[in-house]
Amino acid sequence: LAAKFDVVIVGSGHAGAQAALALRQNKFAGTIALVGDELDPPYERPPLSKDYLAGEKPFERILLRKPEFWQERDIALFPGTRIETVDPNARTLTDADGNIMEYGDLIWATGGRPRTLPCGSDIGTAGVHAIRTKADVDQLVAELPQARKVVIIGGGYIGLEAAAVLVKTGREVTLVEAAPRILARVAGPDLSRFYEARHAREGVTLLVDTRTSCLKSVGGRVTGVELESGSELPADLVIVGIGIVPNVEPLLAAGAEGDNGVRVDGQCRTSLPHIYAVGDCALHENAFADGDAIRLESVQNANDQATVAAKVICGQEAVYEALPWFWSNQYDLKLQTAGLSAGHDDSVVRGDPAEGSFSVCYLKGGRLIAVDAVNRPKDFIQSQKLIKERRAVDRDRLADGSVLLKEL
Ligand code: FAD
Repeated sequence: LAAKFDVVIVGSGHAGAQAALALRQNKFAGTIALVGDELDPPYERPPLSKDYLAGEKPFERILLRKPEFWQERDIALFPGTRIETVDPNARTLTDADGNIMEYGDLIWATGGRPRTLPCGSDIGTAGVHAIRTKADVDQLVAELPQARKVVIIGGGYIGLEAAAVLVKTGREVTLVEAAPRILARVAGPDLSRFYEARHAREGVTLLVDTRTSCLKSVGGRVTGVELESGSELPADLVIVGIGIVPNVEPLLAAGAEGDNGVRVDGQCRTSLPHIYAVGDCALHENAFADGDAIRLESVQNANDQATVAAKVICGQEAVYEALPWFWSNQYDLKLQTAGLSAGHDDSVVRGDPAEGSFSVCYLKGGRLIAVDAVNRPKDFIQSQKLIKERRAVDRDRLADGSVLLKEL
């Protein structure tokens, strides 16, 4: 390492890569280092549980930029480099090998790591996998030929996307969710019920309201998942998709405010001078969550926060107030989400779930706060203005799928 850069970005995922790009787009002329512990150049994470897992997209096609791009923009990549400590007074970073790097400004973009099962698992036991990095998926795919019975723990988007891919390969897929319904953390019951029915129809065995107690293994290889009820699900392969823990320990140890994430202000500044945080690891007050401090785990948030931090470093005025949006692909269903539905007090379904094209509109105090659009891209696009402007909407017209949202 032994080097000095005007801006050092730690984490070369979506947010880190975008921060570097946005610095150059905003004519930043100083030196930039993009330091990441993964070995590959920056790539898209969403395909890992979708077409990359399905083997439908080669790795080259999920790279965020061609490998030579970074050199052309004079962005120095440091792959395979894990930053372990930050000294905000000396403005230095130390990596796992003890090398020291100096920074002018630091952008912390380290995302999160897969949460492990409370029973003290397990990712690492042969046959037990997370889906966070390309390396995770490559290991999982290498074991697939020997796997008939797959158990997925966690009914969030990643678990469901993986279930959709794997059940299509003819494997026996069981998905276990502790909450009474899938997607409970991010969507309303109408959407959960719809996806539950679709997965069941495709042959996925869904066990909701079901807690796992431990993993069974023989000779270091997983053989099953024990449930709290005492019964056991046999498994050749287990995928754990129960959320992430933000990678913020080095910053918190350096004195930054935060706990479940690093606290940032509207300019993505942490409480430490010259240190910004962006993406999955950034705990920020979000205008679309009534100003509550939250972390968002989405490409939108990673890109938009990174752009704000880059502009601020370039001396421009910028504030993070972007509308949250997200997508998920399962089977032939393209879900697009705008806004944040948490805290809604009413919801309305437009279109017909039975035809696989509908939207769930979430209201709070009569105002539209979020839309989950399934195979209804127009609703996704047209809802954004209504949500941004916090418009009060006529419930009956909202429920009428033949009325365009832009007409509301
Ligand atoms: P990351 O992309 O995770 O990048 C952080 C990087 O920092 C990683 O490479 C990590 O290894 C590295 N790092 C961590 N600690 C250190 C350290 N100390 N030193 C050096 N490097 C470090 N979002 C959507 O909007 N739509 C989707 O459909 C969607 N699907 C997804 C599917 C999967 C399987 C996953 C895992 C995520 C998905 N997401 C999706 C979420 C989205 O990918 C994340 O929100 C986004 O990647 C966050 O970007 P980030 O840069 O904050 O974190």
